Amino acid sequence: MAFRSICNKILIRSLFKNQNLRNKSSVPVRIVEVGPRDGLQNESVKVHPDVKIEFINQLSQTGLRTIEVTSFVSPKWIPQMGDNAEVFSGIKKETGVTYPVLVPNIQGCKLALKVGAEEVAIFIAASEGFSRKNTNCTIQESLNRTKEVIDLAKENNIKVRGYVSCVIGCPYDGKVPPSSVAKLTETLLTMGCYEISLGDTIGVGTKITVHNMLQDVLKTTTSDKLAIHCHDTYGQALVNILVALEQGITVVDAAVAGLGGCPYARGATGNVATEDLVYMLEGMGVNTGVDLKKLIKAGRYISDYIKKVPASKVNNALHSKLN
Ligand SMILES: [Zn+2]
Repeated sequence: MAFRSICNKILIRSLFKNQNLRNKSSVPVRIVEVGPRDGLQNESVKVHPDVKIEFINQLSQTGLRTIEVTSFVSPKWIPQMGDNAEVFSGIKKETGVTYPVLVPNIQGCKLALKVGAEEVAIFIAASEGFSRKNTNCTIQESLNRTKEVIDLAKENNIKVRGYVSCVIGCPYDGKVPPSSVAKLTETLLTMGCYEISLGDTIGVGTKITVHNMLQDVLKTTTSDKLAIHCHDTYGQALVNILVALEQGITVVDAAVAGLGGCPYARGATGNVATEDLVYMLEGMGVNTGVDLKKLIKAGRYISDYIKKVPASKVNNALHSKLN
């Protein structure tokens, strides 16, 4: 089949899909902005806490409703997040915006509670290889550690969001079976997480692999308990997000300016850029509640500071037109 004919077929099919999504636009998509945490922790430039505070304050004005601001992890492991308490306490908290923080263990959770965090996030890898290399323990040990965190959070009426990482592939173990992701997701929800974000941490997913993984997870979990977290290593993030939307998932993680890299693929891009996601969703008639112009400005602010061209096509295309 000629290339143009294939393109036309895809276009027509996607227009129909868009129409389906548009009909469902009473269900808007909630974007979880992870730039200040997931993004900046993977950038080599150390960002001054005052700059982080200004960056997060700018993001709070864009209409985003969830902004993950920092991580209460030991500065020995991730020095970029050593200013966690200062940043969390320094930001202006807007009504209607949630500011979750990542906690790797009970110590981190206690520190987060001390500064008044109202939501924490925990993470577990779906592959043994990644779990051992990243957290120095097996998946089961990681689950035991997480249970302590969830119990403490529950005692304090704090919501817990779960991240399952490496849901498609692992840099050490290769392909990750969808059944492992489904099992872990179910376990974390039973333990008390209110939502599980399924992370393609190394960005190897494609339309088919993401679809197959979600099909397995959705056998035991409903789509309203799930979020999708895609990295753009191979340029597949938006396509994979679209697959998740078609499966009924309405929560999507993204990082403004595509902040972050991938420590397992040198020079690769990081999280899907929030600007590109908003542009796609609004173009499909799906409401995000996010002001794209303000988002582009916040993305520029942090990109200029770390002296990096935003890994967002929309930011680069539109920024000069905003001034
Ligand atoms: Zn990420």
